[in-house]
Amino acid sequence: MKDLKFEMKEYLERLFPITRSITGEGNRKSLQILKELVPLKILEFDTGEEVFDWTIPKEWRIRDGWIKNSRGEKIVDFQKSNLHIVSYSKPIHFSGKLAEFREKLHYLENLPEAIPYRTSYYKEDWGFCLSFTDFQKHFREDEVYELYIDSELFDGSLSIGELLIPGKSKKEYLISSYICHPSMANDSLSGVLVSAFLGRELLQRELEFSYRILFVPETIGAITYLANFEKEMKQIDSGLVVTTCGGLGDFGYKQSWEKEHFLNSLVEDVLQKDFKTYSFDIHGSDERQYSSQGFGINTVTISKDRYYEYPEYHTSLDNLEFVTPENLEKSYKLYLKLIEKMEKNIIYKNLYPNGEVMLSKHDLYPKTGGAILPNETVSALDIILWILFYADGNRDLFEISQKIGTSLEATFKEAKRLEEKGILLEVTNKK
Ligand code: ZN
Repeated sequence: MKDLKFEMKEYLERLFPITRSITGEGNRKSLQILKELVPLKILEFDTGEEVFDWTIPKEWRIRDGWIKNSRGEKIVDFQKSNLHIVSYSKPIHFSGKLAEFREKLHYLENLPEAIPYRTSYYKEDWGFCLSFTDFQKHFREDEVYELYIDSELFDGSLSIGELLIPGKSKKEYLISSYICHPSMANDSLSGVLVSAFLGRELLQRELEFSYRILFVPETIGAITYLANFEKEMKQIDSGLVVTTCGGLGDFGYKQSWEKEHFLNSLVEDVLQKDFKTYSFDIHGSDERQYSSQGFGINTVTISKDRYYEYPEYHTSLDNLEFVTPENLEKSYKLYLKLIEKMEKNIIYKNLYPNGEVMLSKHDLYPKTGGAILPNETVSALDIILWILFYADGNRDLFEISQKIGTSLEATFKEAKRLEEKGILLEVTNKK
């Protein structure tokens, strides 16, 4: 068995250089690589398809792009960094002075070594991105430059990777990450990798619940999937949007739209201390689609250097030095711990609601007679009595554990015993 960190590093290095966007060959190639980890189904949705209020755009193909100076030297070159071309640029080829194309050059004066990441998906446009240092070094007002973008916008399709992992219960959790960013490591790739490795682990386990793992281009991909699987997605109560979780900075988590949702408490339980809390906000990633009125899915995000917040965000400095396999592994383990808690949050119904259950008849008196378990303040007997009192087919085990004042794990353990004795019945999806 290979070391997880080593494997993550390998995949990160292979996926990093690929030119991805909201559509295109780079996305398919990336999904094919992920297929080595998990048996993804790659779904294609045609250009022009109407998905709720949106339309799937033309597919974008980019082959090359450069700017040459008057001596014919390439001073900006797509082959050196795919961030140099504004994503979805239309083809161009002309020569001119700086004044004629200045507004098409993007750089960051406050981060002079970084190439910014820019897109123009829904407005037909073009542009080049470069470091401010290179801009100052290579561009003068009186020189004539040659500009070339060899791209194509055509009727093609948008690709989505889907993995359905069945559990005992039909109740599904969503795990979603986005595949639309080119060479950036924390934004986009960290989430994609953590999701894929989570998928591989979950496939090897016996699961209580089912999981729907999606790799979509951000926004348009999530909307496309929701529109095509509306019925299935409306059954889903909650899940994870996995993104920006491999950086050097602090852990944080974004709450789901219903603050009281159990997932928020579970995340806090997993993170324990020293983390930032971000309240739900209508800005962000694909929770904007999944949590929209029609679907109302509660999703949480655990991040390490969250989007918008680190200076390297959306630049060439969000690279393989910024994201380390060690940090990816840490985030992976936190997400896995969270899922392990989600797996224990079952809803049961007491099949003996009339009067108390005769515990001795079912051999339910703890052998140690009233002793309190290590690390617990409530005895196993009390946990059993409270579970029987509260398990009405609506309350989940987490809610019950909070009412009792004990851990979800201890509550789960006793509930399982009651289930085995045929006293509790697991009831499916609440929604
Ligand atoms: Zn982004």
